Amino acid sequence: MFLISITAGLLGLLIGSFLNVVIYRVPRGESIVSPGSHCPACGHPLKAWELIPVLSFLIQNGRCRECQEPISWRYPAVELLTAILFLLTAYFSWSTAIYPSQLFLNLVFVAVLIALSLIDIDTLRLPDVLTLPLLVLGLLGAFLIPGNPTGWESLLSAMGTGGLFLLIALLYPQGMGLGDVKLVAALGAFLGFPAIFLAVFLGSLIGAISGVYLLVTGQKCFRQQIPFGPYLALGSIIALLWGTRIFDWYWALVK
Ligand SMILES: [Zn+2]
Repeated sequence: MFLISITAGLLGLLIGSFLNVVIYRVPRGESIVSPGSHCPACGHPLKAWELIPVLSFLIQNGRCRECQEPISWRYPAVELLTAILFLLTAYFSWSTAIYPSQLFLNLVFVAVLIALSLIDIDTLRLPDVLTLPLLVLGLLGAFLIPGNPTGWESLLSAMGTGGLFLLIALLYPQGMGLGDVKLVAALGAFLGFPAIFLAVFLGSLIGAISGVYLLVTGQKCFRQQIPFGPYLALGSIIALLWGTRIFDWYWALVK
């Protein structure tokens, strides 16, 4: 379990580096394969060693080797975040998920959520090219891999939460977009019932707390839109990794 977690963490560094490309290019409608990675300021194509996650940033002192333009600290941060979340996902889902294919699916789930969260922060959009495949993958995984949730649970959970959020989006269009509806349907498909409730509850709670914090500290004004995607993603990852423990704890408390 320890070895698998470390391997997943190292894999996370590489995937995180790829997610940086996805986060930058997908909202701009650019290809994620070609051209190769280059400095956004001067276009200098990056050599293999300049692509080593985190390390190359430290070696280059956070600057482009060609034009000396500072490189955003967000690139190594996304790589580290992906590594940490991959490590945690391997560590905590290996004990519950028996099938290696389930672990693989969980890692894909976490990776896509990281990309969606940062794109939502940057653009207030959740692109269909990421949310819809996530929905399909969640449904396929539930139908093909035995375990929790089952295919039908996954389908019902996706339709139920997607339908509920669609209703909210229709009644209150300035607060919720259709991107949030598609994301929450995908989350429902992946997590099933009742984990999806926990995910939405935690996401809304953390979102509300940080919304109030941003208002009070004057970092956002009242009518300003706050992206919901990152909070839903955070709630979902907590529900994925610790949902069973949280429910056990809750029921013990209520009894
Ligand atoms: Zn440059």
